[in-house]
Amino acid sequence: MIKLSKPHIDDASINSVIEVLRSGQLVHGNECASFEIEIAKYLGCKECVLVSSGTAALHIALQSLDLGTNTAIIVPDFTFPATANVVALQNFRVVNVDVNLNNYTISIDALKNVIENWRGPEKIKAIMPVHEFGCPVDMECLMNLSKEYELYVIEDAACAIGCIYNNKKIGTFGDMGCFSFHPRKTITTGEGGAIVTNDDKLADKVRRLRNHGIDYKNNKINFVEPGWNYRLTNFQAALGRRQLADLDNRIQRRSELTRYYCELLESVHKSGYIHLPELINGHSFQTFMIVLDERYSRNKVINFLKDKMIESNLGAHSLHSLQIYNNTNYCPVGGFLYRQGLALPLYEQMTKEDVQYVCNNLVECLYSDEVLSNE
Ligand SMILES: *Cc1c(COP(=O)(O)O)cnc(C)c1O
Repeated sequence: MIKLSKPHIDDASINSVIEVLRSGQLVHGNECASFEIEIAKYLGCKECVLVSSGTAALHIALQSLDLGTNTAIIVPDFTFPATANVVALQNFRVVNVDVNLNNYTISIDALKNVIENWRGPEKIKAIMPVHEFGCPVDMECLMNLSKEYELYVIEDAACAIGCIYNNKKIGTFGDMGCFSFHPRKTITTGEGGAIVTNDDKLADKVRRLRNHGIDYKNNKINFVEPGWNYRLTNFQAALGRRQLADLDNRIQRRSELTRYYCELLESVHKSGYIHLPELINGHSFQTFMIVLDERYSRNKVINFLKDKMIESNLGAHSLHSLQIYNNTNYCPVGGFLYRQGLALPLYEQMTKEDVQYVCNNLVECLYSDEVLSNE
């Protein structure tokens, strides 16, 4: 079976985890401290706070802003629902905005339109752009808009570590950036995540929220506010450090494989059977998603490929298409990507022959009547 994705864990990483397990220092250790410094250095920002998942990162990043009641937050319609769930869990209103068909990230025109025509009753206080699948959002336009309307920006860079926009790493443009180290992402600690920021006060606040609301002063523990336990373990951090050291190689390899996919699928793209994403500069290639033309049933395509030992799946979700968010804005592009998007296998250890095999079978599938939709 050619899997959709495969975590990449070498023997050196495994040994580093075993070492930490033998040491007995399972939480609050040197591996965590070093991993935070190394991430901040890699991204070129001041502070990094490790947490237990990407969702935990989004949750306490949003909570740390103390936005009060009567709050609305903008998120893209096409994303993993955790982006919206953390908004709903704060009792804030989820305001979804449609995305671009060519790169799956938030449409700046649609964003402008929603902000300019907003009539409340809640006040829009922040934007959470998602660098979907590793594609950088147009951060210059987005940050200009956020300044003009005095909105906070929390970047959901959960699947985009290593992604670059205008020579600067994604996650470092907004007030805070959130990352995930789930096994589907380019580097993994099993579960895990991080918040990065250049604001010391926000970093302190996020550190407290991660650790029961504790503030250390003069070596004394003070519980200064209610907090969670969202800590990453020391052995996970050991794994993460080895993975981070290999990140740029991984992105390079993923870039080569994605470009090869696009080359092999160019003709079916040109003939209108599928739609290929634009490979924007700075992309970090976490997932490769194509879009099937409306004539196809995605489920039938997934099953066709499964019979050829190829795993594929939907790419991401569309908020307004989900029952829990069905009172949010209708977003036609997000809905279309959710229905017809098809994520294809992508991981570093894949060979070019694997990519050929996937493409040959996909093309055969697209020419077959078996996978047409009945409607
Ligand atoms: C993976 C992902 C998340 C959730 O991260 P977890 O570590 O699984 O909690 C949130 N947002 C986006 C865009 C993601 O890709």
